[in-house]
Amino acid sequence: MPAKKILIVGAGPGGLTAGMILAKRGFNVTILEKEAVVGGRNASIKKDGYTFDIGPTFLMMNYILKEVFLEAGKKAEDYMKVKRLEPMYRLLFTDKEVSISSGFDVMKAEISKNFPGNEEALAKFMKTEKHRYGRMFPCLQKDYSKPWHLLRPVFLKAIPALQLHKKFWQNLSGYFKQDDLKICFTFQAKYIGMSPWECPAAFTMIPYVEHEYGIYHVYGGLNQISAGMAKAFLEFPNAELKLNTKVKELIAEKKKVKGVRLEDGREIFADEVIINADFAYSMSELAKSQKLRKYSPEKLKKMRYSCSTFMIYLGVRKKYDIPHHNIVFAKDYRKNVQEIFEKGSPSEDMSAYVQNACITDPLLAPEGKSTIYILVPCPNKASGTDWQSIKEEYKNKVLDMLEKRTELKDLRANIESETVYTPDDWVNKHNVYLGATFNLAHNLSQMLYFRPRNKFEELDNCWLTGGGTHPGSGLPTIYESARITSNLISKKYGIPFTAPTTLNQKETF
Ligand SMILES: Cc1cc2nc3c(=O)[nH]c(=O)nc-3n(C[C@H](O)[C@H](O)[C@H](O)COP(=O)(O)OP(=O)(O)OC[C@H]3O[C@@H](n4cnc5c(N)ncnc54)[C@H](O)[C@@H]3O)c2cc1C
Repeated sequence: MPAKKILIVGAGPGGLTAGMILAKRGFNVTILEKEAVVGGRNASIKKDGYTFDIGPTFLMMNYILKEVFLEAGKKAEDYMKVKRLEPMYRLLFTDKEVSISSGFDVMKAEISKNFPGNEEALAKFMKTEKHRYGRMFPCLQKDYSKPWHLLRPVFLKAIPALQLHKKFWQNLSGYFKQDDLKICFTFQAKYIGMSPWECPAAFTMIPYVEHEYGIYHVYGGLNQISAGMAKAFLEFPNAELKLNTKVKELIAEKKKVKGVRLEDGREIFADEVIINADFAYSMSELAKSQKLRKYSPEKLKKMRYSCSTFMIYLGVRKKYDIPHHNIVFAKDYRKNVQEIFEKGSPSEDMSAYVQNACITDPLLAPEGKSTIYILVPCPNKASGTDWQSIKEEYKNKVLDMLEKRTELKDLRANIESETVYTPDDWVNKHNVYLGATFNLAHNLSQMLYFRPRNKFEELDNCWLTGGGTHPGSGLPTIYESARITSNLISKKYGIPFTAPTTLNQKETF
């Protein structure tokens, strides 16, 4: 049988992972990317001699990354160099600083110092959440294309661990008494763009995996993961990457996808099409002429989306002696979260994540200088905020706050390169629906069988990978989405593959 041809729309983390795996399995794979570089939200901004990651800066569960390279017959360590960060990050409250470590004894001592009386609960948290993670993660590695997939023994066994009736915050209240300590273990809901008070308890697995397996930096920035994947992909003779190639729409006959039409009018045909571009953007733009029912423009509008992010990428003339990752919480964090998710207004009293990557990786900036990456969670575009008119003012409010509350006292005086992204930029530059940077929300009605499926349910020969499909947003789960999709396509054509094997998770590179 001649090799089947696969087209992938988008060279983001999902598209690149699927590309590597399917090329290894003998498919003829072409990735079409609208930009001049690969990576999507995981690409870099190179400006004035500085290099910034656009999006992801925390690499968690790097064993999954290692596994997907192995699935492609490659070793991740041949394509990138990583460093485990210890302590992992620093959290700043108005009255205290907490240094978060993945070393159990160090973390226990830190809890004892800042939240005396709560330290013994750490062991309970780790033990209980280890059990739950062990039950839940294998479920996330499965496909949920059919309703009966929810009846698989592995899923049924995990149901009690899912704590479907509980929210993330509520789950943490079972371990810790003080609110600020609960924040230290629930703010991670923001990694998927959700409120800890709304996010399902199942996501307690995020702080658990951080504390168990640590977090990593990739030298050159996390964009080097995508660059490494593209390199590994292009080593296959049956792999092709077309940059600066924007897909305009899907070509389909009787709900069977045959290929794509490019912006310049050219048509490319294939046996299967995988969509990696943002899910809701793709449904509303690329599949516009397909008259979708479940994901019609009206229904897409009614779905729930993550928050957005206001970004400031600064090249500064000096180096700051602050940790690699810092999170400054709003004085009233609960109110800040409500403003983002309920009121839809950018907070005056905002929280911000500040990355000082040059402390680990000085080559990201010219000698003696450094990069400062600032991420402020904010409402997505459904809020109707006119970002263009408040962009400059809001940027200054964020910088005021950081100059006051952190060691970055003279930050503005040292800026020599500045790039600001508002939710509008996520829409216009990255084709992200509503600028919801972490895709569809991860509420229970939009997860597993209820999330857009890896085998796209409305069109044949059409598949999804990326943060908008199962299992969800975040690099490790996006790699898993690509693996699930690749396995389903392989199965369709009788190409053998091994089921996902989770490596010895302590093993790293
Ligand atoms: C600010 C920010 C911080 C984040 N931080 C983290 C983190 O620390 N850790 C973590 O694990 N995750 C993080 N994430 C979440 C997630 O890992 C990234 O967003 C990830 O890049 C999403 O990957 P993806 O494959 O779903 O899509 P994308 O990265 O969006 O890739 C989609 C690709 O499709 C291309 N495309 C779009 N339309 C077309 C078209 N019409 N034709 C051709 N190509 C097209 C795009 O250019 C892009 O390359 C973060 C995200 C953001 C935005």
